[in-house]
Amino acid sequence: MTAPLAIHGGTPLRRGGWPVWPMPAPGAAAALEEVLDSGRWSISGPYRGQDCFDRRFAAAYARYHDVPHCVPCASGTASLMMALEACGVGAGDEVITPALSWVASASTILGVNAVPVFADIDAATLCIDPAAVADLITPATKAIVAVHLYSAVADLDRLTALAARAGIPLIEDCAQAHGATYRGRKVGTFGRVGAFSMHHTKVLTCGEGGAAITGDAELAQRLHYLRADGRRFSDMPPPAGHSDLLEGGELMGSNRALSEFHAALLLRQLDRLDAQHAHRAGNAAILDGELARLGLQPQQSSAGTTDRCYFGYAVAFPRGLLEGVALGDVAAALGKELGMVIKPVYPPIYRSPMYLPHSRSRFALSDEHLARIDRARHACPVAEDAAGRTVTFHHAALLGSAADMADIAAAFAKVIEHLDALRRPSSH
Ligand SMILES: *Cc1c(COP(=O)(O)O)cnc(C)c1O
Repeated sequence: MTAPLAIHGGTPLRRGGWPVWPMPAPGAAAALEEVLDSGRWSISGPYRGQDCFDRRFAAAYARYHDVPHCVPCASGTASLMMALEACGVGAGDEVITPALSWVASASTILGVNAVPVFADIDAATLCIDPAAVADLITPATKAIVAVHLYSAVADLDRLTALAARAGIPLIEDCAQAHGATYRGRKVGTFGRVGAFSMHHTKVLTCGEGGAAITGDAELAQRLHYLRADGRRFSDMPPPAGHSDLLEGGELMGSNRALSEFHAALLLRQLDRLDAQHAHRAGNAAILDGELARLGLQPQQSSAGTTDRCYFGYAVAFPRGLLEGVALGDVAAALGKELGMVIKPVYPPIYRSPMYLPHSRSRFALSDEHLARIDRARHACPVAEDAAGRTVTFHHAALLGSAADMADIAAAFAKVIEHLDALRRPSSH
């Protein structure tokens, strides 16, 4: 037996720190200063003789994905709501979304007055299970949202085929998957819209931000109107000092614009994305091998995946191993050994303490609507099983060294060796 667990007063396995996220890219400070002195802090500010940073970032991010259109916005939440509305989803429509994800994958559907319908997940990839989706499609289904979760890409072959057969759009929630590829093509380009978050935690970030990409010119126009109070950029530059946003279009919007500071920062951060991506993937491969040797089950990605994006590293304990042990206690013990945060994966959204449709009167449209959005209607056993035995940690740790990966594996080994010490007396 090794020394007692750190959580029980033993010596932690590791003393050193971990890479700090976010990491400012070279040129980030200069880019922010450039905006500061530019006389334009928002897309709504006056035209100053060159494209604003929002348009420059949009062009760069569209090019990165090899698609014609990108509309930056204030958050991943905004990008999902814009995507849903631009696809024509509205009051009373059903939208299929995975049971296991961040709460926004469902709250955004409620946010456009539609009804989230939770599909169970694939046990190996933790992503939405196409077979479950097929069972849930009804005449009321108006869209499917697929989430590329933690480090996996959802089964895009089957999801795109299902959506095409049903004649409904697939929306890819790529908040955790910037730069991942499937059959050699970037994710976000398989659905009608790819929705991204540039929140602090994400692999491409400016603190708070988002973007929606699409290959469809008309849909892109609707995304523009939806994010800028019904305005879009003019095709020709205006005289300097005038706005290059045209007022009045076909569609009422809301203000979900990204500030010029955020757009300028994203442009710089984008330069580092691919190198960081490769660094994480190399470490994840090391860790996959070491944790598999311990009998653990690292998250897999669907068969067509050509390059994964590690937003989070997720690994499951084999069924039965944690009998009588709370997953939260295991995660806390691991975290204490390593001096970092390790958490159980998301609970199924319909069990999340943050998913409370009835807590907001804006959704009390009718008794019938309230019944349709009642979270007690849902049960997804695969998601519940995964949530009970899978832990995850943030991608910053994967930006460390190979020796750091050995430490992570050693912490898992130590905690497994001491599982008895974590067993709760009441369970005997
Ligand atoms: C982060 C995230 C969102 C929401 O993005 P915000 O920028 O926080 O609004 C949506 N879906 C998933 C899967 C996410 O991880």
